[in-house]
Amino acid sequence: MAYLKPKQEYVDSYDRVTVSYCRDEERFFEELKNSPNKKVKEGEEQMYISLMGMAKDLFMYFAIGDRYKNKEKTIKEWMDRDKAKDELLESAEPIEGVRCLKCGSLMDPNFRDLYDWGPDNKVRVLFMYDCPKGCMPRRAFYSDGEEYVPKHTGTKLYFSKTKEKYDPDFLKDKARFCLTEEKGQEYIRGEEDRERLSELMKKHEEIDKNKETLSKIEKLTAFELEKFLSPKLGRHGYMGFKFGTPEIGKDVFLPFTVTDTHPRGERESSYDLKRLVHKVLEGVNWRLMSDGSSYRVGILSGRLRAYEKDEDLLKLIK
Ligand SMILES: [Zn+2]
Repeated sequence: MAYLKPKQEYVDSYDRVTVSYCRDEERFFEELKNSPNKKVKEGEEQMYISLMGMAKDLFMYFAIGDRYKNKEKTIKEWMDRDKAKDELLESAEPIEGVRCLKCGSLMDPNFRDLYDWGPDNKVRVLFMYDCPKGCMPRRAFYSDGEEYVPKHTGTKLYFSKTKEKYDPDFLKDKARFCLTEEKGQEYIRGEEDRERLSELMKKHEEIDKNKETLSKIEKLTAFELEKFLSPKLGRHGYMGFKFGTPEIGKDVFLPFTVTDTHPRGERESSYDLKRLVHKVLEGVNWRLMSDGSSYRVGILSGRLRAYEKDEDLLKLIK
């Protein structure tokens, strides 16, 4: 008995659920639209109906698109689950030494099945054992050795396939609700565009909200930064401030070196410089990076990062 079926069966099954789900949602909106609503003022019924129609269209657009978006993933999950069942069923070993409780003969396992309708929904393999002399009852054991005890609750141990009624509108609705590859990909691209747009709008709102604070940040060029920083460091004993080769990528980084003229040790020298640079740069668009700083024989090095665009400067405010 194999659980894993051809992929098309899963596709059909998914589409059937999609059609049924979308029909329910559509019916819900239709009923809402057509039921008298006391809150609607006289003379505005037509507007109410057209608004509800728009709400329905919008909702259905996303419902149908999302069904498509989740289709591949869901079908793969279903197939993986059934494949795992097949593997479990295949690999399970029946326990040995089971004897008939009437005549004591060794019983043979002759039938295996997956058991997953227990209260914990755990999937286990169940083996049926027959007495070679035909005694009844038979016995049944899980592959982990636990004996199966039938409960007399009247639970059916088989599933009846629900009869599929003829559904004259199915193909028509399937065409409406189950997107083709082309339409589905279009929906996914649209969704990505909407996300990007909303991100962009959020960013703009942030910038707008912080416009005043942003305008107070002084934007210095590298040349201005050197003139700004060098004398302030010099006043605290750090002389000979010099830039290295800038790293220009998505962001701009400027390595620098400076010489400490005060007789302080490595730890104090590094600490003082870091604190000083942080403080000096507070109102400008440059920051000291926490990485890449070092101290050798009184020469300190570090890296500064430039913040150019408004959206980058926002990060400084936070
Ligand atoms: Zn027997």
